[in-house]
Amino acid sequence: MLSWDQSSSIALMQRERAWVEIDLTALAHNIRQIRGLLSPHTDLMAVVKADAYGHGAVTVAQTVLQAGATWLGVATIPEGIELREAGIESPILVMGATHTAEQICAIAHWGLQPTLCTPKQALVFSEAIGKSSQRQPLPVHIKLDTGMSRLGTPWQKAVEFVQLVQRLPGLTIASIYSHLATADDPDPTIMRQQQHRYEQAIQACGFSPILNPAIHRPFPRFHLANSAATLTDASLHYDMVRTGLVIYGLYPSGHLADRVDLKPVMQVKARVSQVKTLQPGTGVSYGYKFVAERETQIAVVGIGYADGVPRNLSNQLTVLVRGQRVPQIGAITMDQIMLDVSTIPALQEGEVVTLLGQDGNQQILADDWAQTLGTISWEILCGFKHRLPRVAVGKPYGIRQSLSGARHVFHAQQSDLE
Ligand SMILES: *Cc1c(COP(=O)(O)O)cnc(C)c1O
Repeated sequence: MLSWDQSSSIALMQRERAWVEIDLTALAHNIRQIRGLLSPHTDLMAVVKADAYGHGAVTVAQTVLQAGATWLGVATIPEGIELREAGIESPILVMGATHTAEQICAIAHWGLQPTLCTPKQALVFSEAIGKSSQRQPLPVHIKLDTGMSRLGTPWQKAVEFVQLVQRLPGLTIASIYSHLATADDPDPTIMRQQQHRYEQAIQACGFSPILNPAIHRPFPRFHLANSAATLTDASLHYDMVRTGLVIYGLYPSGHLADRVDLKPVMQVKARVSQVKTLQPGTGVSYGYKFVAERETQIAVVGIGYADGVPRNLSNQLTVLVRGQRVPQIGAITMDQIMLDVSTIPALQEGEVVTLLGQDGNQQILADDWAQTLGTISWEILCGFKHRLPRVAVGKPYGIRQSLSGARHVFHAQQSDLE
C-alpha cells in the first residue's frame, strides 16, 4: 500500500512533473545591479505586472522590496489588490487605464495609485472621490504620450491637462510620466526625440525635470525609463525608473549587455516520464513531423504547450539533459514533448531536464526561444501557464521562506533540489 506522508514537502510534490523555478538570489542580485546605476535620489520601481512576467508577483514583490526597489508597477487593479492582500505596503502604480466608479472605489480602498490619461478620466475620478468618504486627496499619475501612441494625453496638450488636474478637488499629482517606444533600438534618435518632448512638456507646465539633489522636490515627480532606457544612461532616470525585464535577469537588447551583470531568474524544468527505443522509420508524435532515420533512444517529458511551451518550437527546441544539449523531436503536444536522447547513456525515468536555464556549463535563455519564434523574451516569460507551479529557490539576505500569500509559489529548500 502506498503511504501518504502529509508532512512530506509540498515543494517536492510540486516538482513531480514540470515547474518554473524562481531564483530569489538572482532576483535580489539584479535589483542591486540596477540600483547601482541609479543616483540615491532616483527610485527603483519594479514592474510586476502580468504576475511579475510569469515569475509570481507576490514573491517577486516581497524580494525586490527587500533588495532595494521602493515602488511596484502593475497593469491592472486586481494585480494591485493581490499584492495588498499579501500584505505589501509599498506604493503601487496602476499603469493601465481605469475608468469606472467600481475601479475608482477599489483604487481608493486598496491604496493604489492610478494613471490618468485623459481630461474626461480626471473629471470622473475627481467626482467619484468627492462622493466617497476619502479624506486625503488621491495621488494620481499623469501619463503623457510623447510618441508611443499608446496611453496618455498628447505631450502638446500637457499644460491644459496638468492645470485641469491641479484644479480638480480630491486629486493630487504624484508624478508626470511617459513611456518610450524604441529604447531598445541601438539607434537612439526616436528615444531622444521622445525625451526632448517629455522635458519640453514638463517645462511648459512650470516644472523642471532635472533633479537637483540639493533641493528635495516634493511633487510631482518625473519618470520615463523602462529597462532599456535605464541601462542607456543616467539622463533618462529622473526621479524614478520603471524596470521590468532587467529585474528578471534578461537584457532588452544585445547592445546593452555590458552595462550590468544580470542573472536570469526563471528556470523551466520537467521530468522524464518514459524512455524508449525507436526502430529506423518510426514516426514521432502527431503528424509524424519527425521520423527516426536510425535506431533512436527517445525520452518522453511531461511538459507541453498547455504549460506554455510554444507549439511553434516543434522540432526546433533544444533541451538540457545532464548538462548536454539534446534536440526535441516531432510535434510538441499539449502535455508532453519527446527528446532524442541517443547521446545520453541509460537515461532514467524521473530525471530532470531543463528547458530554460542552466545545467552544467550550458544555458538556454528565453532570448533563444524568442529568436527562433521571431518574438521577444518578454512574451516568452509571460507565456508560462499556471499549471506550472512556481517554486522559489535561493536565499537572498533576510528574505523569509514562507508559503503565505504567494499564489502558486512554493518555496523549496536549496537542498531539496540537488
Ligand atoms: C511594462 C512597462 C514597463 C517595463 O518595461 P520593461 O521593458 O520590461 O522594463 C515600464 N513602463 C510601462 C508603462 C510599462 O507598461
